[in-house]
Amino acid sequence: MITRTKIVATVGPASADIDVMRKLVQAGCDVFRINFSHGSNEQRLGFLENIRRIERETGEPIAVMADLCGPKIRVGLIEGGCVRLVEGGKITIQRQPVTGTASRISTTLRELVDCLQVGQNVLLDDGKLRFVVESRKADEVECRVIRGGTLSDGKGVNLPQTELKLSALTEKDRADVEWIASQDFDFVALSFVRSPKDVQELRDLLSQHGGERLHIISKIEKPAALEQIEGIMAAGDGVMVARGDLGVEMDLPAVPAAQKKIAALARKMGKVCIIATQMLESMTQSPTPTRAEVSDVANAVMDCTDAVMLSGETAVGKFPVEAVGMMNRIVEAAQDYHDHCSCRQPVGPSAGNTVRAIVSAVREVLSVTNVAVTAVFTVSGQTALLLAKGRLPSPILAISPDKHAVRRMCMYYGVDAFLAPAPEHTRDVLEIAERCALSRGLAKTGDNIVVLSGRPINASGAINTLVVHQAGSTAAAAPELL
Ligand code: PEP
Repeated sequence: MITRTKIVATVGPASADIDVMRKLVQAGCDVFRINFSHGSNEQRLGFLENIRRIERETGEPIAVMADLCGPKIRVGLIEGGCVRLVEGGKITIQRQPVTGTASRISTTLRELVDCLQVGQNVLLDDGKLRFVVESRKADEVECRVIRGGTLSDGKGVNLPQTELKLSALTEKDRADVEWIASQDFDFVALSFVRSPKDVQELRDLLSQHGGERLHIISKIEKPAALEQIEGIMAAGDGVMVARGDLGVEMDLPAVPAAQKKIAALARKMGKVCIIATQMLESMTQSPTPTRAEVSDVANAVMDCTDAVMLSGETAVGKFPVEAVGMMNRIVEAAQDYHDHCSCRQPVGPSAGNTVRAIVSAVREVLSVTNVAVTAVFTVSGQTALLLAKGRLPSPILAISPDKHAVRRMCMYYGVDAFLAPAPEHTRDVLEIAERCALSRGLAKTGDNIVVLSGRPINASGAINTLVVHQAGSTAAAAPELL
């Protein structure tokens, strides 16, 4: 079975070896994520070279997403690495870096002491510990420990009630973007987005460094982003529901509802949607997931997301290949149910006039005719994305002469992307579509395939022709991969 919801796997020490990466791809990984919060450019280049080598070996496209760290605040150094903080105790956060103790710590953001107001919460280590600010001076704030525990150095600090006047792009991010633009990446994920301006800033920076072709994924992990979600979606190419930080920054029980709203809006606006974090968390230590985790992945499929993401499970976990394999099986089972259940609504993108009409026409054809696959000739991949948002009951075969577009489509729901030379004449379109569909096992001789193309041929965004074609009569060898 072709799995339509795509799988993103984060690379890290557990998956750095090329043989493990090969196994991840065999198990169902479509997109690799390289997290810029860890490691060096030398290590990242090693990951990237391995991925491109596997791509050449298999002849199948693989997308790679660079994930910027953004203005993530972390606890500074602590004496002995960690300290135990008891509920009711007092602790000071100071501007100047200090080796932390049970009564005084510093963070990676010196300006923190200027932004925190009396009564505001300081959450540490994914919200496991909580302080409340009781008083402030010029260079420090005094807090009460409301929820205690062990605090280790480097742990994340979240300030859900504090307005930080920081750019979503730190100096490190800016240097990383310059490097990313010079390498063979396909997506850039922007952390802690608060407004469409943040996304535009990244877009401008990418073009300054010649990285215009990279698509931007805005990580939704702050309540402020939820308030401007439509603008953020419009400014970028997709969103990631980054439930790790989102679950700390907002009321955790409200995260599933936010996830559903974000996924529905992405579908309506024709944007990529990724659901991320702790999807199979227990598989970092155990070869099998919990029942709740299996349900979580299945629910993401039913929320009509394009992709589901693994983080620590594949980066540092003991069972990276098993985690991808399990995710693939859950996706298959959930999509099988989803294909036949009544909740599968024909909501599609609202933008795109002619293309929108074509998507509706395809849906209509598929409702009255048995169709094995919908083949689309696309240069940028945009029509394939809009078809994906239409949630068709059969796969989409997207044929493009642009290797970057083909890689990006690895992230799109239900799209099997294929790199092939552009047809020279309109009369070649059916034959190429048929060859690709047969060679990729998406159709058999005698099956109907819907073929979408543009006249004039290959003009970007100009899909205006729909043909229902019976596969088999013209098939010869499949076109060569470029
Ligand atoms: C998250 O917070 O859920 C997330 C994906 O971001 P990161 O892994 O960078 O913290």
